[in-house]
Amino acid sequence: MIETLQLIVQKVNRARNLDDVLAIIVNEVRLAMEVDVASVYLTDFERKQHVLMLTEGLDIDDMDSIRIDEGEGLIGLVARRAEPVNLAEAHKHPRYKLFKGIGAEDLHAFLGVPVIYQRDVLGVLVVQCCRDSAFSEGDVAFMVTLAAQLAGAIAHAEARGQGSSIEKIKSASTELFINGVPAAPGVGIGTAMVLSPDADISLVPDRSVEDIDEEVFKYQDALAIVVKEIDDMKERLGEDLDEESRVLFDAYALLVNSDTIVDSVIEKIRGGNWAQGSLRDVIQDTVEKFAGMDDLYLRERADDIKDIGHRILQKLTDKDKVERSYPKKTVLVGENISATDLAEAPIKNIVAVVSTRGSSSSHMAILARGMGIPTVMGAVDLDLSESDGLEYIVDGYQGRIYIESSAGVRKEYSRLAREDTQLGKELNGLRKELAQTPDGVTVPLYVNTGLMADITPSKKSGAEGVGLYRTEFPFMIRDRFPGEEEQRKIYRETLKAFAPRPVTLRTLDIGGDKALPYFPIQEENPFLGWRGIRVTLDHRDIFLTQIRAMLRAASGLENLSILLPMISDLSELEEAIFLIDQVFTEMKEDGEKVSWPKIGAMIEVPSAVYQAEEMAQRVDFLSIGTNDLTQYLLAVDRNNSRVAKLYDSLHPAVLRAINQVVDAGHKYGCPVGVCGEIAGDPAAAILLLGMGADNLSMTVAGLPRIKWVIRSFSQRDARIMLTRALQFTSADAIRKYLNSALEGAGLGGLLRAGK
Ligand code: PEP
Ligand code: MG
Repeated sequence: MIETLQLIVQKVNRARNLDDVLAIIVNEVRLAMEVDVASVYLTDFERKQHVLMLTEGLDIDDMDSIRIDEGEGLIGLVARRAEPVNLAEAHKHPRYKLFKGIGAEDLHAFLGVPVIYQRDVLGVLVVQCCRDSAFSEGDVAFMVTLAAQLAGAIAHAEARGQGSSIEKIKSASTELFINGVPAAPGVGIGTAMVLSPDADISLVPDRSVEDIDEEVFKYQDALAIVVKEIDDMKERLGEDLDEESRVLFDAYALLVNSDTIVDSVIEKIRGGNWAQGSLRDVIQDTVEKFAGMDDLYLRERADDIKDIGHRILQKLTDKDKVERSYPKKTVLVGENISATDLAEAPIKNIVAVVSTRGSSSSHMAILARGMGIPTVMGAVDLDLSESDGLEYIVDGYQGRIYIESSAGVRKEYSRLAREDTQLGKELNGLRKELAQTPDGVTVPLYVNTGLMADITPSKKSGAEGVGLYRTEFPFMIRDRFPGEEEQRKIYRETLKAFAPRPVTLRTLDIGGDKALPYFPIQEENPFLGWRGIRVTLDHRDIFLTQIRAMLRAASGLENLSILLPMISDLSELEEAIFLIDQVFTEMKEDGEKVSWPKIGAMIEVPSAVYQAEEMAQRVDFLSIGTNDLTQYLLAVDRNNSRVAKLYDSLHPAVLRAINQVVDAGHKYGCPVGVCGEIAGDPAAAILLLGMGADNLSMTVAGLPRIKWVIRSFSQRDARIMLTRALQFTSADAIRKYLNSALEGAGLGGLLRAGK
């Protein structure tokens, strides 16, 4: 049975539209189950009906005529119960409803199973037989397994909206859109231009070479051209490129020139294979290695390596890029748009980017955010083969793409886009203003950085310091631990750029979803394992080197704060402070000019919440990491899309914990900041203001928005709203309440496209 099941699922996954999906299902199921009739009903959610989409074995001319109201008949029963219904004599069931004249009179045995996708019953699969015995347990199990596996394919086919059958379940007024991951905010309307890789490395054959030296030279030449191209791109983009993106390009160039790749290719050429074949082997091996890594950021580097492979291959085969002409308003669309694809395009023409793969931490997304280009990543349902030249509306707030939409939708989005531009200008105008409430309370707004030295945009945004510098990111883009001097230089850049404003460097927080390629940690439960301070206290060499580099970097600047991640026990905090003291004393004894830094603890695991008072007595500040605190309090993996709906930092339990920590800190005169993503959420910011958080640290893009919130709500009102919010029992109710407050205060533009 398993082979049949796999075969059906494979066929369905290859289907081009909903019509094909349905046809495969009914035909294959009828054959596999040896039944008289197989049918698929899908749910028309708007009309609240189950619609017969396709059937094999019944005598029906007009399939459209069979529509069953929600809860009616046996189909309605299966859907309502969301459970299989298996009957030997269906015609005797009180819910049985006979459709006359279609040959259903003798169909007594009935098995209906629901098709469930993300909690919604999308439809019902039905098989029927002319006999009076129920289906076997094995039959039921087969159908249930099949339905579970087909649910995704049906949902995707519905989302793509192609095929004539779609009209039956979507009324003409339902505007179809494709969902993806919001990666850069904004709205872009333009003509889709689909980019496809020009050279397919997997198709390169092996070929032996005579002149090995000549082949090596050919390869090195191609490599040099690619490196120069990347440099030129960086140069050409000039002003449009912020500091972070510039460093991204450097990282790209580093990958191209990486010894491991370059040397391995040359070694393979020396083994007798031509350059193209040698390159193919090395690129495919490296891609496989990266793609198999647990960490999302590193996994996505596999795509950069593939892109680099294509580029070199292109040069090797002298295959000049097809000349592309970009429409005036181009939406760049592709399976895997890379940072260099965007950089190569005439930026002035690009109004949005859509990629069917990747996530908001892809290089491409980082670059697009830096350039302010609305972007949707991971739009898996998009059919690229038929997209070129179509009109796309890209909603980077919600991660939605409308294709050839109705005039009504286009008009509405054009208005929203205009309002968005206007709002952006107004927010920019707040740059030099203080983040101060109408009743005079100042809440310093800091930036979270560290992926790359994101200095220029952070300073431009009016940030009053760096609240969280994630030092693990500079560690990730190297192929070994950076040395003390290397680290000192990296940290110094940020410390100096912001001095005298504070810069909070967090000690290495690897483990969990952040692995280093050269320091693999394989664990069953990485988020509950060797992570953050647990690793660095076990590897004092790493910790001591990092602290020394930090203290040296801050020499003469006096603006360093050191933040300790994943503290779950007081002994970890005490030991870390002891070690910092040890390094400091040694450096002093050696006559170095160093100052004692401020030291803070991250409150991001439940035990730290309950010991926040004890922590507050031992440090200079507390910083609440709500990203981890939410996942640990709610027992919801922050990276797992299946449980993503349960992950909400506005959950009453999380809010109470944050409130408790702020109070605990203040009891001992210890300032408490918030540096998790919640700090950049306009709705949550009101509550954090009400709680009396001493500073908020967030991504650069979120900063002007939060400043607007702080300047719009008095702390007095925020306190009242906090009391009210804490009385609600769910995150949804709290968000609804806060969103309506934001709308009421005229800040609705922060929640969606438009003002
Ligand atoms: C957090 O956990 O909230 C946090 C800021 O740290 P990170 O996201 O790096 O784990
Ligand atoms: Mg964390």
